[in-house]
Amino acid sequence: MKIILLGPPGAGKGTQAQRLQQERGMVQLSTGDMLRAAVASGSDLGVKAKAIMERGDLVPDALMVGLIEQRIAQPDCAKGFILDGFPRTTAQAEALDRMLAAMGVKLDRVIEMEVDEAALTERIVGRFSCAKCGAGYHDKFKQPAKRGVCDSCGHTEFSRRKDDNAETVKTRMAAYRAQTEPLLPYYRAKGVLRGVDGMAEMGEVYRQIVRILDGT
Ligand code: ADP
Ligand code: ADP
Ligand code: ZN
Repeated sequence: MKIILLGPPGAGKGTQAQRLQQERGMVQLSTGDMLRAAVASGSDLGVKAKAIMERGDLVPDALMVGLIEQRIAQPDCAKGFILDGFPRTTAQAEALDRMLAAMGVKLDRVIEMEVDEAALTERIVGRFSCAKCGAGYHDKFKQPAKRGVCDSCGHTEFSRRKDDNAETVKTRMAAYRAQTEPLLPYYRAKGVLRGVDGMAEMGEVYRQIVRILDGT
């Protein structure tokens, strides 16, 4: 299956994509994670993206399309992927359509994660992740089973994103509303859009997603 998880920052895209990757062998393609890796490595892309990400604005379409185009052509993506954080603009969505058509690949579903805006800031400011394997956690909603120890890999160091603060969240929400929300009618018109209740607890959200995937 080839799917897109669509929703505002903090909606739970990464959380669900990680679980789908673990349990269903689909590959998580998180453009945010790819960009953070580029920033950490100091590559050309990282140098260009760093300040933009810290402000909460979107990285230019041409850079993002190039990044996904390379990644999606890798052999591991043939068994199925979850786009997490891409596309975020109409230009990116159109470029993705062209890419998939050229590869002869069909997009199965776009799953919208519907969440009240009021809940998002709380989710984002409490977010942290394992510094080694990237497993996602939350101060209030998802602590590791043993405090301070990653459930997935046993590591004891965690990190928080620099852009996960109340101030930057405002810019990121505005970017979502202005540039990403127009993708909902775009995919609805193609007949691939489905919605899940992103306000439900994580396990319930996962079950709703699986029901959509297994129903297709
Ligand atoms: P996104 O990738 O859409 O930005 P994340 O998956 O990183 O969102 O989730 C943001 C934060 O909210 C994380 O700390 C995560 O643990 C937490 N979270 C994710 N889904 C839920 C949920 N259904 N209920 C409560 N907290 C959640
Ligand atoms: P979240 O899901 O919490 O919004 P991400 O990890 O997906 O965060 O993205 C972090 C930042 O990386 C964004 O605020 C933006 O600057 C940049 N980014 C990620 N994906 C894209 C994309 N497809 N187009 C443009 N910028 C992107
Ligand atoms: Zn870990």
